[in-house]
Amino acid sequence: MPEPLILVHGGAGLVPAESRELHAEGCANAAKVGGAVLNSGGSALDAVCAAVESLEDNPIYNSGTGCALTYDGGVSLDSSVMCGKTHRAGGVACLGPFRNPVRIAQCLLEEETILLAGVEAERWAEAKGFERLQEDDLIVPSAAKAWKRVVQEGGACNWAGGTVGAVARDSDGDLAAATSTGGTMGKLPGRVGDSPLIGVGTYADEICAVSATGNGEAFMRAVFAARVADRIRRGEEPSGAIQNVLNRIEREFQGNGGAIVVPKEGDFSAVKNTTTMSYGWWSPEDSGADC
Ligand code: ASP
Repeated sequence: MPEPLILVHGGAGLVPAESRELHAEGCANAAKVGGAVLNSGGSALDAVCAAVESLEDNPIYNSGTGCALTYDGGVSLDSSVMCGKTHRAGGVACLGPFRNPVRIAQCLLEEETILLAGVEAERWAEAKGFERLQEDDLIVPSAAKAWKRVVQEGGACNWAGGTVGAVARDSDGDLAAATSTGGTMGKLPGRVGDSPLIGVGTYADEICAVSATGNGEAFMRAVFAARVADRIRRGEEPSGAIQNVLNRIEREFQGNGGAIVVPKEGDFSAVKNTTTMSYGWWSPEDSGADC
């Protein structure tokens, strides 16, 4: 019997030293939430969605509550989910204020369509019973302050960090991955990052599950998650596979970030080429977190 395992991340980037414990703690809690699903015989798919939901609800991360804002000061959320067993996937992009985009992406797994964007995605979500909130319901003071610094005071309009994700293996050995983000602070309205794209920010098959975080445009240029999964399929160690593709992103596209992987057998990998990446894990034997 494969050992159930879940690993979550709270984004690569630079978390200030005084906040690192809090970031690790949020990841530990989310891993426990996903772990409880696995422990009661739930699927990897349900576990990653529950864990990401917990991270989306935590205002310190850039997803759901606490998300980064567009240049106009608006909310535009990206998320995706993939089930390794069925290869079914769902994603939402440029979604307005919904509390848990990952649950909308999960709901899309029942449809033939994989990726929905913008107002049509919102309409579809509302028809499925998800509540559209006011933007202010998801905007927290620290995000508003960072937006002001970037957009109104001319600070660098760049990567916010704090994207969240989860990868898991259940007791049947099935794998799943999910990722959710508000994207980059001050992004162009309508901009879609790597996180809702299957094979870039999120990927799962019967060999491994991958969730990425980093400069979305560089990750798209490298088709990140699919490249990592291909390397693992060809026999490379997961941590080496992540490192190799991150190296290429840095070398060729001047981007950086990190990723988490759970393979069909054996331990997880969390690799970054940034200063920090918060992550937390749970298995029946062991749990913990770091940043
Ligand atoms: N990859 C995300 C994006 O570009 C940002 C991040 O991971 O921090 O939208």
